[in-house]
Amino acid sequence: MIVYEPENEQLLTNACMNCQEPHYQRAYADMENIGCCSHSPTFGLPEIQYMVVNRGVDAVEQLLFMKKKIEIRAFEVKVHAEIDPRYEQDHKKNDDPEETLRYSTCNFFKSKSGCSLADEEKPLVCRTFICPWVEEQCGKEGQQLIQDAARNISGSYKYRENELRSALKTEGINLKTDVKSTLHHLFHLKN
Ligand code: SF4
Ligand code: SF4
Repeated sequence: MIVYEPENEQLLTNACMNCQEPHYQRAYADMENIGCCSHSPTFGLPEIQYMVVNRGVDAVEQLLFMKKKIEIRAFEVKVHAEIDPRYEQDHKKNDDPEETLRYSTCNFFKSKSGCSLADEEKPLVCRTFICPWVEEQCGKEGQQLIQDAARNISGSYKYRENELRSALKTEGINLKTDVKSTLHHLFHLKN
């Protein structure tokens, strides 16, 4: 049920094909069931660098930094999900961030085919998150596998993230002050 792919640094489960995690059920029957791809992903330096090397600086600017609703921090960018307009009418008086998940869709989700990004381009959380509904069905052995794999994946990710962060700090640049120079520098650090 759980597959750990060390080469792609990700955990997968076929349970996502029929996601029953209560937290991620849709608000309306006409909305596609997309499981946890309703969340707003935050991209860190390792996946941004991978994208820059494989897609080029301009394409990455377009893909991540020109979306309608983003939050640019020094070393990461959060791309907010699209929210179905019915959320506004259903929550006029009560704004609940958890409830928005039932109405939202990640910008990188493609209808009927899933995530449009390559494995290496996906944020860490997308490559390691296994929800409680799946965990409960895994038994002790499966749960241990999830824990160990998530620890390994996060460990090597954080090591690379720290290296890139230090290199950018040394140059005195970051995404918040200058997106283009930072993307160019990430490209050169790989080459
Ligand atoms: S990990 Fe859980 S919440 Fe996410 S899509 Fe799979 S089954 Fe659904
Ligand atoms: S980036 Fe891809 S895997 Fe992550 S939430 Fe968006 S569509 Fe899903």
